[in-house]
Amino acid sequence: MRDKKIIAYKDERIKRIAFSLRGLIRDCVMNEWDRLGKKQRMIHLGKIEVTSLDGRQVLKRNQYMDIEDERSGLYRALGSSICMCPGCNKANKDMYYNAIAKIWFCTLCVQEYRNFYHKNKAILDQGGFVGDFDEDFHKTFL
Ligand SMILES: [Zn+2]
Repeated sequence: MRDKKIIAYKDERIKRIAFSLRGLIRDCVMNEWDRLGKKQRMIHLGKIEVTSLDGRQVLKRNQYMDIEDERSGLYRALGSSICMCPGCNKANKDMYYNAIAKIWFCTLCVQEYRNFYHKNKAILDQGGFVGDFDEDFHKTFL
């Protein structure tokens, strides 16, 4: 059994609803990501007094890095979810689960990764040079 599966809705109404929900979740996560980024900039500029829950001042750097961790976690969770393809950031595509990478990609990006792999692999097999090519990663789409 292959570890890969595709989610493709045949019913147009269901597809519209699913894609709308995915887009809504993506937009909410990105809005929160932006809000945290603005808060980070305000801390960096000294416009927000950083205090802990008990009222003592904490190091700005710690607060800044905590927000950075939260932002990274949000983006990583969104990128790994079926809500958004990390290749093209679209929420309205049929999705393919790459179980090796543990990430959902849209079927169009998957085809591009496959084509990229075959093109670069052929060049490498003939002794040629390819630039930025992660053969192990691209191979997971085959
Ligand atoms: Zn894509």
